[in-house]
Amino acid sequence: MGPELRISRGALLDDIAAVRARIAPSTLMLVMKDDAYGHGLEWTTGTAAGAGVDWFGAYDVASALRIRRVLGDRDARVFAWATSTAGEVDDALAAGIDLGVGSEEYLQLILTVAARRGTSARVHLKIDTGLHRNGIRPEAWPAFAETVAAGVRDGLLRVAGLWSHLAEASDDEDDAAQAEFRSALDVLRAAGVEPEQQHLTASAASWWRPELRGTLSRIGAFCYGIRSADGPDLDGIRPVASLVARVVALDGDRAIIGIGSFDGLPSTLAGASVGTPAGARGLLRIDETTAVIDGWQGAAIGDEVHVFGPGDQGEDSATTLAERIGTVGEEVITRLTARVGRVIEA
Ligand SMILES: *Cc1c(COP(=O)(O)O)cnc(C)c1O
Repeated sequence: MGPELRISRGALLDDIAAVRARIAPSTLMLVMKDDAYGHGLEWTTGTAAGAGVDWFGAYDVASALRIRRVLGDRDARVFAWATSTAGEVDDALAAGIDLGVGSEEYLQLILTVAARRGTSARVHLKIDTGLHRNGIRPEAWPAFAETVAAGVRDGLLRVAGLWSHLAEASDDEDDAAQAEFRSALDVLRAAGVEPEQQHLTASAASWWRPELRGTLSRIGAFCYGIRSADGPDLDGIRPVASLVARVVALDGDRAIIGIGSFDGLPSTLAGASVGTPAGARGLLRIDETTAVIDGWQGAAIGDEVHVFGPGDQGEDSATTLAERIGTVGEEVITRLTARVGRVIEA
């Protein structure tokens, strides 16, 4: 049997509950990009919706439509913030998807499509608060706000939200971003527009900086039990996904396991430790389809090795592995290829 990414339904539900308790009264928007951080878009949507999650952050329209299909008639909102084509905007409006708008051109495209359809578009307006990654610059905001106000008067827009994204590099920068966000809200209100929601924070700031939270919090990582790189463990949060491979050959006190770089396991993880039934052991080398574990007397063919997970066999978390190679936990999970089977567990 090949390597498996085991996904725990109980852990996802517990993590979501812990995040919602922590951020209340702010509402969770569960972020679903990269196939729900590698956990599977459809399964994650259905599981979270069953627990009452009613905001989903899709990134692109194609994913938003897949989420919408799983949600069916449920009273839940799906937000897609990637700038999209006219055809995608058309599909999004037909399906009642909320759109993130970070440029004047995209606003014009949405206005055109809404007018053609004879409907109004639900939009979330993005102010650039310093990240310079999609968003209206503060100097362009007053004119943008006037265009939006006209679109609302014409029945083509409904302002479902005002939003931005934080750099999370320092508290001071994030405080400055919040001040910029509030100015944008004032300008919008002066133009006669009141956004239904405000959202600025992702996992780390939502958890650690309550004063920055809006009415919504866009959270991915922590709901999947992925802590921040160089960040502490979090109360009530544990990894949802475990990567499991099996021993396929033995060589003295070395065990060869059936996972390698072709499965998306970075070969630079050599030197990390993994969890075996005998406890933590060193990962000596990662080849194309296998990896070698050192110093493990008594291993048997078929034994399960936990490459990352919550620590049941002494394994590290995906984030701890990621820190060794200068990346983030979500990257270690989403890099896994289709060779790795996904298995849902209770
Ligand atoms: C990825 C992303 C998030 C979620 O970030 P996490 O740190 O995983 O919680 C929120 N907002 C935007 C715009 C994102 O791209």
